[in-house]
Amino acid sequence: MFSKKMPEIIPEEDTNVWACSSPECKGWMRQNFAFQAVPDCPLCGSGMNEESRMLPALTNTTRNMAFS
Ligand SMILES: [Zn+2]
Repeated sequence: MFSKKMPEIIPEEDTNVWACSSPECKGWMRQNFAFQAVPDCPLCGSGMNEESRMLPALTNTTRNMAFS
């Protein structure tokens, strides 16, 4: 994903996320930052499924959501 050399290595950890149930939608969010117990996708309004992904460990960052 990153081809440039990074100044420091960010460790990845198994993170619980909500992922949009729509196969055409890339919306997801970290469970830690979900506003509802079972959120709806903020992009398309579909339901979301619980998943776990390897994500960079959070320290002090506002990058708590990613939509691509
Ligand atoms: Zn969606």
